[in-house]
Amino acid sequence: MPGMGMLDGKTALIFGLSNDRSLAWGISQALHREGAKVAFSYAAVMEKRMRPLAESLGATFIEPCDVASDEEIGAVFAKARRELGTIDILIHSIAFARGEDLKGRFIDTSRDGFLLAHNISAYSLLGLARAARPLMPQGGAILTLTYYGAEKVVPKYNVMGVAKASLEATVRYLAADLGHEGIRVNAISAGPIRTLAASGISGFRGYLKSFADQAPLHRNVTIDDVGATAAFLCSPGAGAITGEVLYVDSGYNIMGMEVPEESAES
Ligand code: NAD
Repeated sequence: MPGMGMLDGKTALIFGLSNDRSLAWGISQALHREGAKVAFSYAAVMEKRMRPLAESLGATFIEPCDVASDEEIGAVFAKARRELGTIDILIHSIAFARGEDLKGRFIDTSRDGFLLAHNISAYSLLGLARAARPLMPQGGAILTLTYYGAEKVVPKYNVMGVAKASLEATVRYLAADLGHEGIRVNAISAGPIRTLAASGISGFRGYLKSFADQAPLHRNVTIDDVGATAAFLCSPGAGAITGEVLYVDSGYNIMGMEVPEESAES
């Protein structure tokens, strides 16, 4: 119904939709449901699966961009300026590391693997934020996705945990830089969800099981959970929240110790 959504009249540019399991899909649907006009940028190899999804939400701006390239970032935002004018919301739902760096030991991470993970998973937020800023003259909301492995050692998350730590610090520094322009920058720290990116982490199934066992809510997190929180963080209701990492994790992060159920009771 027009006039009812918390994002009515807003335009969102979303990076990182690849298929219907993507966190960006849960986010896109929620932003659209709340009244935002949605626009997309994708990694070229993902076009086939993502384009019909984007079109199903009425998107007409659907443009490729490899975030490793400053030229491609420049080109996609130049086109966004021409076709969308201004934007209110930027979603960064992108991460990448080599498969070989998400198994085995962290100590074996190569220089190239380390730099690649940081380039695509952390620097890209800075690159996109800098390009988005001129399109947000009235302020805006920038949102990225992170994971608990940034703070605590999660087996096999390895170099991605270190890149997420950099991403979370990047959120804080960007929030400080952009605050006076009314641009808020936040992250959602999501519990594990089976997606394409997650399938690169060896033993990911174990994450899901151990997470649901230990989290206070005893359930896994869905892309709809992430989407609903994303819509809130990008809405006027979150107007005083910036530089924050908000957990959407069934409460997992508050627990200090894993104790088997039987011994906890006696
Ligand atoms: P996904 O594979 O659906 O999304 C990752 C996206 O990154 C893809 O759309 C891919 O095209 C894009 N990407 C990778 N390299 C790129 C490049 N060079 N240029 C442009 N785009 C590129 O998986 P996802 O799980 O939805 O991941 C989205 C975000 O959520 C990531 O930051 C991920 O770390 C984060 N996250 C995921 C989980 C989880 O368990 N799935 C938990 C917490 C946080």
